[in-house]
Amino acid sequence: MRIKKDDLVIVLSGSDKGKKGKVLRVIPDEGKVVVQNVSVAKRHTRPSKTKKGGIVSQESPIFAEKVMIYCPDCKEAVKMKTKILDNNERIRVCARCGEELDKK
Ligand SMILES: [Zn+2]
Repeated sequence: MRIKKDDLVIVLSGSDKGKKGKVLRVIPDEGKVVVQNVSVAKRHTRPSKTKKGGIVSQESPIFAEKVMIYCPDCKEAVKMKTKILDNNERIRVCARCGEELDKK
């Protein structure tokens, strides 16, 4: 899968279409990703000995095909491509502007 943890992505379809968020978790076996503030399910929990009751919000995994990487320079969803550096290091760059997408 090309999307990695901490990538900034934008949602392309569904009820969260157009939402932007950071990838919190990647589930390669299911082809899914968990994106911050996307597909949030609210659960009511009962108080227990260790936890207070209340409403807990948690992101549910969504299919990776539903998101695209977001380029901060193009300010939109872009395709990414792999670039091989002189030292054989592979980096992912924006297919449009060439900006490196792996930098933090
Ligand atoms: Zn770009």
